[in-house]
Amino acid sequence: MGNTLPTWLVYCRPGFERDCAEETQAKVIEAAENSGFLILQGKAKLAYRQLTFARQLLTLHGEVNDLTERDRLTPLLAAIPEAPAQFGALYLEVPDTNDGKTLSGFTKRFQPLLEQALRENSRLLDDPTLPRLHILFPSESRALTASSDPRNSNNVPNGIHRVSMASDAPSRSYLKLAEAFEVFLDRKEQALWLKPQMTAVDLGAAPGGWTWQLVQRGLQVTAVDNGPLKGAAASHPAIRHLRQDGVKFRPQRPVDWLVCDMVEQPQRVAALMTEWFVGGLTSHAIFNLKLPMKKRVVALRTALEFLRTALNARGIRYRLEAKQLSHDREEVTVFLTRAKK
Ligand code: SAM
Repeated sequence: MGNTLPTWLVYCRPGFERDCAEETQAKVIEAAENSGFLILQGKAKLAYRQLTFARQLLTLHGEVNDLTERDRLTPLLAAIPEAPAQFGALYLEVPDTNDGKTLSGFTKRFQPLLEQALRENSRLLDDPTLPRLHILFPSESRALTASSDPRNSNNVPNGIHRVSMASDAPSRSYLKLAEAFEVFLDRKEQALWLKPQMTAVDLGAAPGGWTWQLVQRGLQVTAVDNGPLKGAAASHPAIRHLRQDGVKFRPQRPVDWLVCDMVEQPQRVAALMTEWFVGGLTSHAIFNLKLPMKKRVVALRTALEFLRTALNARGIRYRLEAKQLSHDREEVTVFLTRAKK
């Protein structure tokens, strides 16, 4: 790997390796289908937040291919790069695959051993500003050693934000909006932008998972869907359910949040979001874009470009980020907010 251009190790949802590579436009060194990770080379700089399909963005330093049960510690310590000299955290990781999950017991057992060895050599400190050391185990015998820049990567192990289910949530989609808030908003933004008594509209709300996530955060929600809300969401005082067409619905007064999970073509959703923003009807939005089976990257780019062009033309300043969350299957989640002038 003695090349001047960096070699990147990227994690993604298994099955989306090609989309992930296409998005970066870097040279593919390894991208086995359904492996959940890829090795790329050739772009001097990649920006984690601008990549939709990447769950994690790391600089790859080396690899070990012949690990045995007898002694993994010695060869792994030898494979840890000399630079960076110190790390702020150690993440032992596995791909998000069935095979990967079978290795997570081993990584949990192995973590304290490796941590101790690194601390004894003063290579591991508790400093969140330092690069993190990542070791990915695609199999029992193979390990990839890599590091992340805390300002240009995902800060959680495996690139997956763990969120917890509420026992009374009407659907598992509750988790998806919870994950979106964790991924797109830092703690300060969550405290500032998700305050009790703020207002939200949920388009395509039934059975009510996203609405429930907003209600748990104290918001007043208008849930628009011809279908029924389920469980506690059906009669909660903070929820107003309207059986209307979500494409046509507009609020009488601007709201703080618009969320949208309607199954519609990405282009139509982008046009709808544009209308809400241009009309000043919401401050923030989180919406899903359901991607086609083929040419997903092109479909995504077209929809996001449409939004950007429309907002730019009207002089609206904004922040736009799109990520495939761990709860997203054939779709991605987009966050759009007005930026200060
Ligand atoms: N986010 C929901 C949750 O957390 O439970 C799940 C939404 S589900 C994937 C999509 C919903 O969009 C369906 O309930 C469907 O009735 C609704 N939908 C699709 N097109 C719609 C439209 N034009 N107007 C209103 N609702 C629509």
